[in-house]
Amino acid sequence: MPEATTEQVCPQCGTGMPVHEGYRVWCAGCDWNVAPELFVYGAGGTAERRRDFAGRHGTATFEELAREGTQGLRARLTPSSVLAGVLALLVHGLSFVLLGVGAWLLVAGWGNPFAVAFGALLVLTFLVLRPRFPRLGGTAPQLGRADAPRLFALVDSVAAEMDTRSVDAIVVEPYVNAAVTTYGLRRRVLHLGLGLWAVLTPQQKVALLGHELGHFANGDTRHGSLVGSALHTLRLWVAVLTPDPWDGRLTHLLVIGMMRIPYYAAQSGLTLLEKVSLRGLPRREYLADDLAAEVASAEAARDLMETLLHADRIDSELRRLSNEAAAFASRQDAPRMDETLWPRLAEHLASVPPRERERLRRVSALDWHQQDSTHPPTHLRIELLDRRGPSVAKVVLDERTESAVERELRPAAKKVARTVARDM
Ligand SMILES: [Zn+2]
Ligand SMILES: [Zn+2]
Repeated sequence: MPEATTEQVCPQCGTGMPVHEGYRVWCAGCDWNVAPELFVYGAGGTAERRRDFAGRHGTATFEELAREGTQGLRARLTPSSVLAGVLALLVHGLSFVLLGVGAWLLVAGWGNPFAVAFGALLVLTFLVLRPRFPRLGGTAPQLGRADAPRLFALVDSVAAEMDTRSVDAIVVEPYVNAAVTTYGLRRRVLHLGLGLWAVLTPQQKVALLGHELGHFANGDTRHGSLVGSALHTLRLWVAVLTPDPWDGRLTHLLVIGMMRIPYYAAQSGLTLLEKVSLRGLPRREYLADDLAAEVASAEAARDLMETLLHADRIDSELRRLSNEAAAFASRQDAPRMDETLWPRLAEHLASVPPRERERLRRVSALDWHQQDSTHPPTHLRIELLDRRGPSVAKVVLDERTESAVERELRPAAKKVARTVARDM
Protein backbone atom coordinates (compact mmCIF):
# COMPACT_ATOMS: atom_id res chain seq x y z
CA MET A 1 0.00 0.00 0.00
CA PRO A 2 1.62 3.32 -1.04
CA GLU A 3 2.04 5.68 1.89
CA ALA A 4 0.95 9.31 1.78
CA THR A 5 4.17 11.23 1.31
CA THR A 6 3.14 14.85 1.65
CA GLU A 7 0.13 16.89 2.62
CA GLN A 8 -1.64 19.85 1.06
CA VAL A 9 -4.11 22.27 2.60
CA CYS A 10 -7.64 22.43 1.19
CA PRO A 11 -8.13 25.80 -0.54
CA GLN A 12 -11.78 25.81 0.46
CA CYS A 13 -11.88 24.86 4.13
CA GLY A 14 -8.24 24.54 5.20
CA THR A 15 -8.34 20.83 6.13
CA GLY A 16 -5.11 18.87 5.51
CA MET A 17 -5.22 16.62 2.45
CA PRO A 18 -2.78 13.67 2.13
CA VAL A 19 -1.15 13.38 -1.31
CA HIS A 20 -0.86 9.93 -2.93
CA GLU A 21 1.37 9.77 -6.00
CA GLY A 22 -0.77 9.04 -9.06
CA TYR A 23 -4.12 9.69 -7.39
CA ARG A 24 -6.26 12.78 -7.17
CA VAL A 25 -5.86 15.05 -4.13
CA TRP A 26 -9.20 15.82 -2.48
CA CYS A 27 -10.66 17.12 0.78
CA ALA A 28 -12.52 14.81 3.13
CA GLY A 29 -13.83 17.81 5.06
CA CYS A 30 -15.78 19.56 2.30
CA ASP A 31 -15.50 17.26 -0.75
CA TRP A 32 -13.30 19.79 -2.57
CA ASN A 33 -11.88 18.23 -5.79
CA VAL A 34 -13.67 14.90 -5.18
CA ALA A 35 -14.90 15.25 -8.75
CA PRO A 36 -13.79 18.65 -10.11
CA GLU A 37 -15.86 18.15 -13.24
CA LEU A 38 -19.00 18.04 -11.08
CA PHE A 39 -18.13 20.24 -8.16
CA VAL A 40 -19.49 23.77 -7.96
CA TYR A 41 -16.63 25.57 -6.25
CA GLY A 42 -17.53 27.15 -2.95
CA ALA A 43 -21.27 27.08 -3.60
CA GLY A 44 -21.96 23.87 -1.67
CA GLY A 45 -23.68 22.84 -4.85
CA THR A 46 -23.20 19.13 -4.52
CA ALA A 47 -26.48 18.44 -2.73
CA GLU A 48 -28.29 20.61 -5.22
CA ARG A 49 -26.74 18.68 -8.06
CA ARG A 50 -27.84 15.43 -6.50
CA ARG A 51 -31.39 16.78 -6.40
CA ASP A 52 -31.03 17.82 -10.03
CA PHE A 53 -30.26 14.27 -10.96
CA ALA A 54 -32.91 12.86 -8.66
CA GLY A 55 -35.48 12.71 -11.44
CA ARG A 56 -33.38 10.17 -13.28
CA HIS A 57 -34.24 6.57 -13.91
CA GLY A 58 -34.01 4.27 -10.94
CA THR A 59 -34.76 6.80 -8.21
CA ALA A 60 -38.50 6.28 -8.00
CA THR A 61 -37.99 2.53 -7.79
CA PHE A 62 -35.27 3.05 -5.21
CA GLU A 63 -37.58 5.13 -3.02
CA GLU A 64 -40.36 2.57 -3.32
CA LEU A 65 -38.05 -0.30 -2.39
CA ALA A 66 -36.43 1.74 0.38
CA ARG A 67 -39.88 2.12 1.94
CA GLU A 68 -40.98 -1.50 1.46
CA GLY A 69 -37.57 -3.05 2.15
CA THR A 70 -36.17 -5.54 -0.35
CA GLN A 71 -35.69 -8.47 1.99
CA GLY A 72 -37.62 -11.49 0.81
CA LEU A 73 -39.26 -9.40 -1.91
CA ARG A 74 -39.51 -11.31 -5.16
CA ALA A 75 -40.24 -10.16 -8.66
CA ARG A 76 -43.92 -9.53 -9.05
CA LEU A 77 -46.06 -8.46 -11.94
CA THR A 78 -46.02 -4.71 -12.31
CA PRO A 79 -48.22 -2.80 -14.78
CA SER A 80 -45.20 -2.16 -17.00
CA SER A 81 -44.02 -5.79 -17.00
CA VAL A 82 -47.57 -7.02 -17.82
CA LEU A 83 -47.89 -4.44 -20.58
CA ALA A 84 -44.48 -5.38 -22.01
CA GLY A 85 -45.41 -9.09 -21.95
CA VAL A 86 -48.81 -8.50 -23.60
CA LEU A 87 -47.27 -6.29 -26.31
CA ALA A 88 -44.60 -8.92 -26.99
CA LEU A 89 -47.24 -11.67 -27.27
CA LEU A 90 -49.26 -9.49 -29.67
CA VAL A 91 -46.19 -8.93 -31.86
CA HIS A 92 -45.44 -12.66 -32.04
CA GLY A 93 -49.17 -13.44 -32.35
CA LEU A 94 -49.29 -11.32 -35.49
CA SER A 95 -46.41 -13.35 -36.98
CA PHE A 96 -48.37 -16.57 -36.35
CA VAL A 97 -51.51 -15.06 -37.88
CA LEU A 98 -49.49 -14.36 -41.04
CA LEU A 99 -48.32 -17.99 -41.02
CA GLY A 100 -51.87 -19.28 -40.56
CA VAL A 101 -53.34 -17.13 -43.32
CA GLY A 102 -50.42 -17.98 -45.63
CA ALA A 103 -50.81 -21.72 -45.04
CA TRP A 104 -54.57 -21.50 -45.56
CA LEU A 105 -54.10 -19.64 -48.87
CA LEU A 106 -51.62 -22.27 -50.04
CA VAL A 107 -53.98 -25.14 -49.23
CA ALA A 108 -57.40 -23.67 -50.04
CA GLY A 109 -56.20 -21.62 -53.01
CA TRP A 110 -54.10 -24.35 -54.61
CA GLY A 111 -54.39 -23.94 -58.39
CA ASN A 112 -54.95 -20.20 -58.14
CA PRO A 113 -51.54 -18.60 -58.87
CA PHE A 114 -52.40 -15.36 -57.01
CA ALA A 115 -53.46 -17.17 -53.86
CA VAL A 116 -50.39 -19.41 -53.94
CA ALA A 117 -47.99 -16.48 -54.54
CA PHE A 118 -49.56 -14.41 -51.74
CA GLY A 119 -49.67 -17.42 -49.41
CA ALA A 120 -46.01 -18.18 -50.06
CA LEU A 121 -45.13 -14.51 -49.42
CA LEU A 122 -46.91 -14.61 -46.03
CA VAL A 123 -45.18 -17.85 -45.00
CA LEU A 124 -41.80 -16.36 -46.00
CA THR A 125 -42.59 -13.21 -44.00
CA PHE A 126 -43.29 -15.43 -40.98
CA LEU A 127 -39.94 -17.17 -41.39
CA VAL A 128 -38.19 -13.78 -41.22
CA LEU A 129 -40.25 -12.37 -38.32
CA ARG A 130 -40.78 -15.51 -36.22
CA PRO A 131 -39.62 -15.55 -32.58
CA ARG A 132 -36.08 -16.89 -32.43
CA PHE A 133 -34.19 -18.96 -29.92
CA PRO A 134 -30.69 -17.53 -29.72
CA ARG A 135 -27.84 -19.98 -30.11
CA LEU A 136 -24.63 -20.20 -28.16
CA GLY A 137 -22.11 -18.89 -30.64
CA GLY A 138 -19.00 -16.76 -30.64
CA THR A 139 -15.30 -17.43 -30.30
CA ALA A 140 -15.05 -17.05 -26.50
CA PRO A 141 -14.22 -20.28 -24.60
CA GLN A 142 -17.32 -22.21 -23.48
CA LEU A 143 -17.24 -24.45 -20.44
CA GLY A 144 -19.56 -27.39 -19.85
CA ARG A 145 -20.03 -29.37 -16.64
CA ALA A 146 -17.26 -31.81 -17.52
CA ASP A 147 -14.75 -29.00 -18.15
CA ALA A 148 -15.18 -27.32 -14.77
CA PRO A 149 -16.94 -29.55 -12.19
CA ARG A 150 -15.94 -27.42 -9.16
CA LEU A 151 -17.03 -24.15 -10.78
CA PHE A 152 -20.35 -25.72 -11.77
CA ALA A 153 -20.76 -27.15 -8.27
CA LEU A 154 -20.33 -23.62 -6.90
CA VAL A 155 -22.87 -22.18 -9.36
CA ASP A 156 -25.22 -25.11 -8.55
CA SER A 157 -25.08 -24.40 -4.82
CA VAL A 158 -25.92 -20.73 -5.39
CA ALA A 159 -28.82 -21.76 -7.67
CA ALA A 160 -30.08 -24.30 -5.12
CA GLU A 161 -30.23 -21.61 -2.40
CA MET A 162 -32.62 -19.57 -4.51
CA ASP A 163 -34.64 -22.52 -5.80
CA THR A 164 -33.77 -22.07 -9.42
CA ARG A 165 -32.24 -24.27 -12.11
CA SER A 166 -28.46 -23.90 -12.57
CA VAL A 167 -26.73 -22.99 -15.84
CA ASP A 168 -25.93 -25.39 -18.71
CA ALA A 169 -22.88 -23.49 -19.99
CA ILE A 170 -20.41 -20.85 -18.86
CA VAL A 171 -18.83 -18.54 -21.45
CA VAL A 172 -15.53 -16.98 -20.38
CA GLU A 173 -14.95 -13.41 -21.62
CA PRO A 174 -12.50 -10.56 -20.93
CA TYR A 175 -15.05 -7.88 -19.91
CA VAL A 176 -15.36 -6.15 -16.52
CA ASN A 177 -18.95 -7.43 -16.24
CA ALA A 178 -21.07 -10.57 -16.08
CA ALA A 179 -24.44 -11.52 -17.54
CA VAL A 180 -26.97 -14.34 -17.89
CA THR A 181 -29.19 -15.23 -20.84
CA THR A 182 -31.05 -18.20 -22.24
CA TYR A 183 -30.26 -20.04 -25.46
CA GLY A 184 -31.94 -22.80 -27.44
CA LEU A 185 -35.02 -24.17 -25.72
CA ARG A 186 -34.85 -23.15 -22.02
CA ARG A 187 -31.07 -23.58 -21.74
CA ARG A 188 -29.22 -21.20 -19.43
CA VAL A 189 -25.82 -19.60 -19.86
CA LEU A 190 -23.62 -17.47 -17.60
CA HIS A 191 -21.23 -15.02 -19.26
CA LEU A 192 -18.31 -14.62 -16.90
CA GLY A 193 -16.14 -11.54 -17.50
CA LEU A 194 -12.66 -12.28 -16.17
CA GLY A 195 -11.92 -8.54 -15.96
CA LEU A 196 -14.37 -8.54 -13.05
CA TRP A 197 -14.05 -12.12 -11.74
CA ALA A 198 -10.25 -11.89 -11.41
CA VAL A 199 -10.33 -8.89 -9.06
CA LEU A 200 -13.05 -10.21 -6.71
CA THR A 201 -12.53 -11.80 -3.30
CA PRO A 202 -13.99 -15.33 -2.92
CA GLN A 203 -17.15 -14.08 -1.20
CA GLN A 204 -17.60 -11.28 -3.76
CA LYS A 205 -17.51 -14.00 -6.42
CA VAL A 206 -20.40 -15.73 -4.64
CA ALA A 207 -22.25 -12.39 -4.57
CA LEU A 208 -21.70 -11.94 -8.32
CA LEU A 209 -23.07 -15.43 -9.00
CA GLY A 210 -25.94 -14.64 -6.61
CA HIS A 211 -26.85 -11.49 -8.52
CA GLU A 212 -26.68 -13.18 -11.92
CA LEU A 213 -28.61 -16.31 -10.91
CA GLY A 214 -31.04 -13.98 -9.14
CA HIS A 215 -32.07 -12.81 -12.61
CA PHE A 216 -33.04 -16.42 -13.41
CA ALA A 217 -34.81 -16.90 -10.08
CA ASN A 218 -36.86 -13.74 -10.60
CA GLY A 219 -37.84 -14.70 -14.15
CA ASP A 220 -35.99 -11.71 -15.61
CA THR A 221 -34.36 -13.75 -18.37
CA ARG A 222 -37.64 -15.39 -19.39
CA HIS A 223 -39.29 -11.97 -19.52
CA GLY A 224 -36.16 -10.59 -21.23
CA SER A 225 -36.13 -13.15 -24.04
CA LEU A 226 -39.88 -12.77 -24.70
CA VAL A 227 -39.64 -8.98 -24.83
CA GLY A 228 -36.21 -8.99 -26.50
CA SER A 229 -37.35 -11.23 -29.36
CA ALA A 230 -40.47 -9.08 -29.86
CA LEU A 231 -38.28 -5.95 -30.01
CA HIS A 232 -36.19 -7.68 -32.66
CA THR A 233 -39.31 -8.53 -34.69
CA LEU A 234 -40.62 -4.95 -34.39
CA ARG A 235 -37.28 -3.53 -35.60
CA LEU A 236 -37.53 -5.80 -38.67
CA TRP A 237 -41.10 -4.60 -39.28
CA VAL A 238 -39.98 -0.95 -39.10
CA ALA A 239 -37.03 -1.62 -41.44
CA VAL A 240 -39.29 -3.36 -43.99
CA LEU A 241 -42.07 -0.76 -43.82
CA THR A 242 -39.87 2.37 -43.87
CA PRO A 243 -40.82 4.00 -47.20
CA ASP A 244 -38.13 4.78 -49.80
CA PRO A 245 -37.93 8.43 -50.89
CA TRP A 246 -40.54 9.11 -53.58
CA ASP A 247 -39.12 8.34 -57.03
CA GLY A 248 -41.60 10.63 -58.86
CA ARG A 249 -43.92 7.88 -60.12
CA LEU A 250 -47.61 7.91 -59.25
CA THR A 251 -47.70 4.17 -58.41
CA HIS A 252 -44.88 4.65 -55.90
CA LEU A 253 -46.82 7.47 -54.23
CA LEU A 254 -49.73 5.05 -53.87
CA VAL A 255 -47.51 2.42 -52.24
CA ILE A 256 -46.07 5.01 -49.82
CA GLY A 257 -49.62 6.06 -48.91
CA MET A 258 -50.71 2.47 -48.27
CA MET A 259 -47.64 1.71 -46.14
CA ARG A 260 -48.08 4.79 -44.01
CA ILE A 261 -50.42 3.33 -41.41
CA PRO A 262 -48.61 -0.03 -40.96
CA TYR A 263 -45.31 1.88 -40.77
CA TYR A 264 -46.54 4.20 -38.01
CA ALA A 265 -48.14 1.26 -36.21
CA ALA A 266 -44.81 -0.64 -36.18
CA GLN A 267 -42.85 2.47 -35.21
CA SER A 268 -45.19 3.33 -32.31
CA GLY A 269 -45.24 -0.29 -31.17
CA LEU A 270 -41.45 -0.30 -31.07
CA THR A 271 -41.20 2.99 -29.17
CA LEU A 272 -43.84 1.88 -26.66
CA LEU A 273 -42.29 -1.53 -26.03
CA GLU A 274 -38.84 0.01 -25.62
CA LYS A 275 -40.20 2.44 -23.03
CA VAL A 276 -42.22 -0.01 -20.95
CA SER A 277 -39.48 -2.65 -21.00
CA LEU A 278 -36.91 -0.16 -19.68
CA ARG A 279 -39.24 0.82 -16.86
CA GLY A 280 -38.98 -2.44 -14.96
CA LEU A 281 -35.20 -2.81 -15.23
CA PRO A 282 -34.07 -0.98 -12.04
CA ARG A 283 -36.45 -3.04 -9.91
CA ARG A 284 -35.06 -6.28 -11.38
CA GLU A 285 -31.51 -5.19 -10.60
CA TYR A 286 -32.27 -4.15 -7.01
CA LEU A 287 -34.03 -7.47 -6.36
CA ALA A 288 -31.13 -9.43 -7.90
CA ASP A 289 -28.83 -7.54 -5.50
CA ASP A 290 -31.08 -8.65 -2.66
CA LEU A 291 -30.71 -12.30 -3.65
CA ALA A 292 -26.95 -11.78 -3.90
CA ALA A 293 -27.00 -10.51 -0.31
CA GLU A 294 -29.11 -13.45 0.83
CA VAL A 295 -26.71 -16.02 -0.62
CA ALA A 296 -23.31 -14.36 -0.16
CA SER A 297 -24.07 -12.05 2.84
CA ALA A 298 -25.03 -8.38 2.64
CA GLU A 299 -21.44 -7.40 3.32
CA ALA A 300 -20.13 -9.36 0.29
CA ALA A 301 -22.83 -7.93 -1.97
CA ARG A 302 -21.93 -4.44 -0.80
CA ASP A 303 -18.19 -5.10 -1.36
CA LEU A 304 -19.02 -6.25 -4.89
CA MET A 305 -20.83 -2.94 -5.52
CA GLU A 306 -17.82 -0.99 -4.25
CA THR A 307 -15.56 -2.95 -6.60
CA LEU A 308 -17.89 -2.03 -9.46
CA LEU A 309 -17.13 1.63 -8.72
CA HIS A 310 -13.59 0.89 -9.93
CA ALA A 311 -14.75 -0.69 -13.21
CA ASP A 312 -13.28 2.13 -15.35
CA ARG A 313 -9.92 1.84 -13.65
CA ILE A 314 -9.90 -1.95 -14.04
CA ASP A 315 -10.94 -1.66 -17.66
CA SER A 316 -8.17 0.79 -18.60
CA GLU A 317 -5.54 -1.22 -16.67
CA LEU A 318 -6.65 -4.37 -18.52
CA ARG A 319 -6.22 -2.56 -21.85
CA ARG A 320 -2.84 -1.18 -20.78
CA LEU A 321 -1.54 -4.59 -19.67
CA SER A 322 -2.72 -6.34 -22.83
CA ASN A 323 -1.24 -3.66 -25.10
CA GLU A 324 2.03 -3.92 -23.22
CA ALA A 325 1.95 -7.70 -23.69
CA ALA A 326 1.18 -7.34 -27.41
CA ALA A 327 4.25 -5.10 -27.75
CA PHE A 328 6.43 -7.74 -26.04
CA ALA A 329 4.87 -10.73 -27.79
CA SER A 330 7.52 -11.07 -30.52
CA ARG A 331 10.44 -11.12 -28.08
CA GLN A 332 12.04 -14.36 -26.91
CA ASP A 333 12.18 -13.26 -23.27
CA ALA A 334 8.56 -12.10 -23.33
CA PRO A 335 7.00 -12.63 -19.90
CA ARG A 336 4.26 -15.30 -19.78
CA MET A 337 1.60 -12.66 -20.18
CA ASP A 338 -1.28 -15.12 -20.61
CA GLU A 339 -0.50 -16.41 -17.09
CA THR A 340 0.30 -13.09 -15.41
CA LEU A 341 -2.40 -10.83 -16.86
CA TRP A 342 -5.27 -11.68 -14.46
CA PRO A 343 -3.16 -11.77 -11.26
CA ARG A 344 -1.58 -8.44 -12.23
CA LEU A 345 -5.02 -6.95 -12.76
CA ALA A 346 -6.05 -8.11 -9.27
CA GLU A 347 -2.84 -6.63 -7.78
CA HIS A 348 -3.58 -3.32 -9.47
CA LEU A 349 -6.98 -3.05 -7.80
CA ALA A 350 -5.63 -4.24 -4.45
CA SER A 351 -3.02 -1.44 -4.50
CA VAL A 352 -5.59 1.36 -4.71
CA PRO A 353 -5.21 3.31 -1.43
CA PRO A 354 -8.21 3.52 0.94
CA ARG A 355 -8.48 7.27 0.40
CA GLU A 356 -8.99 6.78 -3.33
CA ARG A 357 -11.67 4.17 -2.58
CA GLU A 358 -13.42 6.65 -0.32
CA ARG A 359 -13.20 9.34 -3.04
CA LEU A 360 -14.86 7.04 -5.60
CA ARG A 361 -17.61 6.29 -3.07
CA ARG A 362 -18.27 10.04 -2.82
CA VAL A 363 -18.03 10.52 -6.59
CA SER A 364 -20.55 7.74 -7.21
CA ALA A 365 -23.22 9.70 -5.37
CA LEU A 366 -22.36 12.79 -7.40
CA ASP A 367 -22.04 11.45 -10.91
CA TRP A 368 -24.35 8.44 -10.65
CA HIS A 369 -21.89 5.71 -11.49
CA GLN A 370 -23.61 2.86 -13.31
CA GLN A 371 -22.28 -0.60 -14.04
CA ASP A 372 -23.70 -0.23 -17.54
CA SER A 373 -26.75 1.30 -19.16
CA THR A 374 -29.15 -1.31 -17.78
CA HIS A 375 -28.16 -1.13 -14.11
CA PRO A 376 -29.39 1.55 -11.69
CA PRO A 377 -26.89 3.94 -10.03
CA THR A 378 -24.40 2.01 -7.93
CA HIS A 379 -24.67 4.25 -4.86
CA LEU A 380 -28.41 3.57 -4.67
CA ARG A 381 -27.73 -0.17 -4.93
CA ILE A 382 -25.24 0.19 -2.07
CA GLU A 383 -27.73 2.17 0.00
CA LEU A 384 -30.47 -0.42 -0.43
CA LEU A 385 -28.04 -3.16 0.64
CA ASP A 386 -27.08 -1.09 3.70
CA ARG A 387 -30.72 -0.66 4.69
CA ARG A 388 -31.15 -4.41 4.42
CA GLY A 389 -28.84 -4.83 7.40
CA PRO A 390 -26.09 -7.45 7.93
CA SER A 391 -26.74 -11.11 7.10
CA VAL A 392 -24.96 -14.45 7.23
CA ALA A 393 -23.69 -16.11 4.04
CA LYS A 394 -25.55 -19.24 2.92
CA VAL A 395 -22.85 -20.19 0.43
CA VAL A 396 -19.23 -19.78 1.54
CA LEU A 397 -16.38 -20.09 -0.96
CA ASP A 398 -13.40 -21.33 1.05
CA GLU A 399 -9.82 -20.89 -0.11
CA ARG A 400 -9.31 -24.51 -1.17
CA THR A 401 -12.43 -24.60 -3.32
CA GLU A 402 -11.52 -21.22 -4.76
CA SER A 403 -8.11 -22.39 -5.94
CA ALA A 404 -9.71 -25.53 -7.41
CA VAL A 405 -12.20 -23.34 -9.29
CA GLU A 406 -9.41 -21.06 -10.52
CA ARG A 407 -7.39 -24.10 -11.69
CA GLU A 408 -10.36 -25.19 -13.79
CA LEU A 409 -10.67 -21.71 -15.26
CA ARG A 410 -6.96 -21.41 -16.09
CA PRO A 411 -6.96 -22.85 -19.66
CA ALA A 412 -9.87 -20.59 -20.64
CA ALA A 413 -8.31 -17.64 -18.77
CA LYS A 414 -5.05 -18.06 -20.72
CA LYS A 415 -6.94 -18.22 -23.98
CA VAL A 416 -8.94 -15.09 -23.15
CA ALA A 417 -5.77 -13.26 -22.01
CA ARG A 418 -4.23 -13.81 -25.45
CA THR A 419 -7.24 -12.26 -27.21
CA VAL A 420 -8.03 -9.33 -24.87
CA ALA A 421 -6.30 -6.82 -27.16
CA ARG A 422 -8.44 -8.05 -30.07
CA ASP A 423 -11.78 -8.38 -28.24
CA MET A 424 -11.94 -5.21 -26.16
ZN1 LIG B 1 -12.01 21.22 2.35
ZN1 LIG C 1 -28.07 -7.47 -13.16
